[in-house]
Amino acid sequence: MAEEIRDFTLKELEARFAELDIERYRAAQVFGWLYAKGLDDFSLMTNLPEPLRERIRASFVIGGMDVEKVQTAADGVRKLLFRLKDGSRIECVVIPHGGRWTICLSTQVGCRFGCAFCASGSSGFKRNLSAAEIVSQLLAARRHLAEDRMSHVVFMGVGEPLDNYDNLLQSVRILNEKKGLHLGRRKMTVSTCGLADGIRRLAGEGLELELSVSLHAATDKKRSEILPVNRIDPLRRLLSAVRTYIEETGRKVTFEYVLLGSYNTSVEDARALVKLVRGMNVKINLIPYNDAQVRCAFQSPTKLEALSFKSYLSRHGIDVTLRRPRGGDIRAACGQLRAQAQSKD
Ligand code: SAH
Repeated sequence: MAEEIRDFTLKELEARFAELDIERYRAAQVFGWLYAKGLDDFSLMTNLPEPLRERIRASFVIGGMDVEKVQTAADGVRKLLFRLKDGSRIECVVIPHGGRWTICLSTQVGCRFGCAFCASGSSGFKRNLSAAEIVSQLLAARRHLAEDRMSHVVFMGVGEPLDNYDNLLQSVRILNEKKGLHLGRRKMTVSTCGLADGIRRLAGEGLELELSVSLHAATDKKRSEILPVNRIDPLRRLLSAVRTYIEETGRKVTFEYVLLGSYNTSVEDARALVKLVRGMNVKINLIPYNDAQVRCAFQSPTKLEALSFKSYLSRHGIDVTLRRPRGGDIRAACGQLRAQAQSKD
């Protein structure tokens, strides 16, 4: 059966070409077409003779994904809904900043972790995305938006990246290839709901990826209420893994803290948070809860609630930012568009 060519790093493709008796340098040429130029058709790779294209076609396919829907928010954030070959849907979000774009990629179809406020897990887990499917979101978005200034990648779309560890890392290697998209590893951020073993494993890869951990509550009692994963990896285990990550990579880690109105925004919550992270090389990113969701018991914080929480943390010496909500009018939060499309099927 033909293999998906976007599942390979350049080195692996060179090895596969060697097995097929194709000259090594041809792999780099194909790589350039696939990534630097973003082609998804071997016939357009004009520096390859047709008989060679035929041989490549006999062994490889360039899978793709159909863009089913694109939404543009008032603030320029775009959201793309893709339909995969098996009919599954995934989404990615493209966020403009200063003439460049950050793209938020999905790593799984659905999610196993069922965080109480998140739309991604609401219809369960279907499957992991392949490395090709992860990378192809960027290529499809770039083509669809006629935009090649994608400078940062965040793995914060649908799914839990560290639950699809091997394909995630393979996609990072492919995005990082010099002959391809050449995205710096420090320009890629992996976000996790807090899988301690995955964080430790990532710490040992020598990759210098940015790490973001979805903390959302500072006590085990509260965190277990909203993040079921906390019952498996409670705060002590999670923070110990994060400390290892900081020590081994020298990187500052970000804790994401979604502000759920009247739930985790009190002075006691802020105090517990300060106590938990004091002395660690971390930054806290507060995200006002995006409530454009169908069924959910939570509400967005008021402006005053968000600002008071932030100010408590900064007064206590914590490096903290309050994320400006973006793309709210197009259901840009994790899994929301997909959940809406499914409910219409
Ligand atoms: N599974 C990974 C990455 C995907 S979610 C993780 O949990 O980190 C990316 C971030 O968006 C997480 O911090 C998640 O908790 C947050 N999120 C999910 N739904 C949200 C919503 N409705 N409003 C604000 N943030 C949300």
